[in-house]
This record gives sequence, C-alpha cells and structure tokens, in this order.
Amino acid sequence: MIICRLCRKGEMRSMRNITLGTIIFAVLGAVECTSVGRAQAPAIDWERQKAETLQHYLTLVRIDTSNPPGNETKVVDYLKKVLESENIPTRILALDPNRANLVARLKGNGTRRPILILGHTDVVGVQREKWPVDPFGAILRDGYIWGRGTVDDKHTLAANLIVMLLLKRSGVPLDRDVIFLAESGEETDPTDVGMPFMVEHHFDEINAEFALTEGGTSTIDNGRVSVVQIATAEKAPRRVRLVTSGSSGHASVPRVNNAVIHLGAAIQKVGAWETPMRLNDTTRTYFEKLASISVPEKAARYNGLLDPQRSAAIQRYLALSEPSHYSMLRTSVVPTMLKGGIAPNVIPSEAEATIDIRALPDEDVPRFYEEMARVINDPAVRIVPIASSRPVAPPSRLDNEMYRALEQAVKRVYPESTVLPAMVTWYTDMALLRSKGVQSYGIGPALTSEDNTNFGAHSDVERILESSLYKFVQVTWEAVTDVAVRK
Ligand SMILES: [Zn+2]
Repeated sequence: MIICRLCRKGEMRSMRNITLGTIIFAVLGAVECTSVGRAQAPAIDWERQKAETLQHYLTLVRIDTSNPPGNETKVVDYLKKVLESENIPTRILALDPNRANLVARLKGNGTRRPILILGHTDVVGVQREKWPVDPFGAILRDGYIWGRGTVDDKHTLAANLIVMLLLKRSGVPLDRDVIFLAESGEETDPTDVGMPFMVEHHFDEINAEFALTEGGTSTIDNGRVSVVQIATAEKAPRRVRLVTSGSSGHASVPRVNNAVIHLGAAIQKVGAWETPMRLNDTTRTYFEKLASISVPEKAARYNGLLDPQRSAAIQRYLALSEPSHYSMLRTSVVPTMLKGGIAPNVIPSEAEATIDIRALPDEDVPRFYEEMARVINDPAVRIVPIASSRPVAPPSRLDNEMYRALEQAVKRVYPESTVLPAMVTWYTDMALLRSKGVQSYGIGPALTSEDNTNFGAHSDVERILESSLYKFVQVTWEAVTDVAVRK
C-alpha cells in the first residue's frame, strides 16, 4: 500500500492522477491522497493573479486607518465597491459610522456550517520620523512592500478579498457559506465598535463552524519557510490589584502595619510564586513537534518537561532563557504597577500594585485568586479583580477538518516546513469567537526572524516581502477551498 505523506493513511486507490510518476513519488514518500476528502478547488494561475493581489493590497495599505481614530469606514467603502462590482452583496454594520464593519457572504448548499474569514481594518499609529518612507505610501523597495499594516493586518484583508473574488468568479459549488468579515477596532476599541459589537449584536451574520484570521507566524530560514505556527489557543488577561491598608501617621514613627511594607512583601511572594505547570493539547503537541526539529540539547529539554525528575530544572532554564516558553506552561503572575504615598514624611494608609495575570485557557479563575490569597497569607492584603471583557476560551481542536486543511495548505505552499499548533500568550479577537463555539485559527505571512523582530507588527517600521504576500494568499485559498468547496 502506498501511504500519503500528508495524512499518512491514504491508500493507492484514493490517490489523484495515478501515473508511473505518482508511483515513483509514492515510493519516495511524496504522494498526497484524497482520503481526507480534499475538495476539487478551481485551479488558479498564481503568476497571473499577482497583479490584482498587489493592486488591492497597495490600495488597502494606502488608506490610513491608524488608530485612534481608525476611520475604518474608508476601507469598508473600498471593499464594498470591489465586492459589489463582482456581484457579491455586502452588509455594513456600524456602532460608530466612522468605524464600520463589513460582512459579505458566498452561499453554500448548507450541508455544512459556514467558514468565517476575517481581518481587521485598523492599524496602530505611526511616528513618521522613524520611517524611511511614507508609512502610508505602500512603497515597493528591495523586494519589500513598506507601510503601516503591511503585516498587521492588511495582508489578511487582501488575501480574504482575493479568496472571495476567485470563488465567486469560478462559480464553484460550496458545501459551506464563506463569510468575509472586515472588522474595525482590533488594535484599540474603547467603545467596543469591532468584534465585541459584532459578537454581541450581529452574531448571526458571522456565526460559523470555523474561523480563519491573523495570529500565527511563518518563519523564513535561509530563504525557505522552516516553521509555521498555527494559533489555536490563547491565554486570557485576568489582572488584579493588590490593595493593602494600615494606619497612616508621621513617618518619624515606624508602624508595623505600614501599608507599603505589607504591599512589598505581597509583591515579593506573588512574584516568586511558581504557579502549577499544565499542558493542553496545543502546548503538548507544540513541544513534541518542536523537539522533533530541534538540536538534541533543546529537544531533550522539551521532551523532558513531563518527566517528574527533570521538569523543575527544565522549567527554571526556560524561565531564564526562553521566557515565552515558560509562560506557555502556566498561568503567569507579573507585577507591573505600583501606587502609594503622598509625601516622604507621611505613612500612607493605603498602597496598591497591579498584577498582570495571564490565565491558561482552562484556568478556574476564582480558585486561582483564592490560591493567590493563600500564597500572600496576609489579611492586610485584598485581591481586587480588574474587570475584563475577554472571555477565557477553550483551545481550538487539532483533530478537525479545518486544522488538517491548514496543515495541508501549508505543506503544499511551503513543502519544507514543519507545522506547529501554538498557544499565544497575549489575547486576540479569536477569544470572542472561541467562547461562542467557533473553532478559530490564526495564520501569518512568512517573515525572516530579523523582519519579525525589527519590522513586524507594531514595530516602528513595518514591511513584508512581496513574495510572502502572494504565498500567504495561496495558503489562505488552499485552506478555505479545502473545507468549503463541495466534496
Ligand atoms: Zn493585528
């Protein structure tokens, strides 16, 4: 039997286009099968598609939607014009007329639930003096496209737009509706005009089985994409204030109930608190697969995390040398702000600290706060939760059609890469969708480590390799058509 290199279970009879060449490739372990029901998506001439992709993308980058104030409706107007000129109806949904959201839907036959493809229309602000080019010029130079939003998040908007246009033009039958959402206010949204508004008031418009958006990363090493991380889970902010009280008085007379002293001791304790390590499907798979592509010394560390004899030492190492990996293992507790005192000679009656807590997706938060109180062990310290509109959302699955489609899409476009599921330690709009039961996945364009560090999302200067834009469109297309086109 010939085994498919992607799903590892396909049989010869289920392979596409069997020829002598196929059999030779199969023997070499390079054949893909259709046993997982790969849909027959229309063939696209990607070389010819470049010009149109680039034209929409440059236009989107050139529309200044820096936030605040965002003014995302300018992008919405453009998208509406493009979509409707190809007979794709749109709906504009706005809490604030300057910060509208746009939804468009291609109807499927309804045998399966929709897929939502979404991107945000706002970008973070710019300090113009730091830019070598106009940040809203979308200048092409040295193989790059330069501009605010080039990797956060106008590439997603452009890719999703192209997918909609190509699907519509091809007329290919769909099993699922494909829903396009251009959302406002992802970067800054004090009045909840973006995803919170859509989820709370127009969820019917975007309700889907799967969602695909930004949030993953693809890393270029020596000119090739080596690792692709698909975001499947995230931590949730569950910050608190620690408030201490004591008696006030003249600072020439020491007091044992001094609020500042109690606060200092409490911060020391929570700062040193090693909260329990806990892996979920995403992080377990992440470390296993990361080990499989790491040098032996690193691999031994990732594989040893669950070994009771070695785990503590490995975690200590990660805390010092790979802090983001350390954070992926646990709910983290990080003191960030202090407040207390009005004069050098006055003992204040109150002092407080802000503690940034990032909870694992399955954290029992009230119990966690109780545990924290036990760790602090001081009745003079109160733990005051800071309200958060971000739900704690369960990770999205790794064993469903969407995740498999993404893995295979990545393999087709970047054959030499390894795919890892990833839990991001910050929060994204996917949490709102996941909390409503939408299995949500984040992907990202291919960047070199240097570009990711110096020219990535929210950097002083942002840029994308032109070639990465086109590949990103292809990954999006492959994944969406795989799950949506009629099987
Ligand atoms: Zn973004």
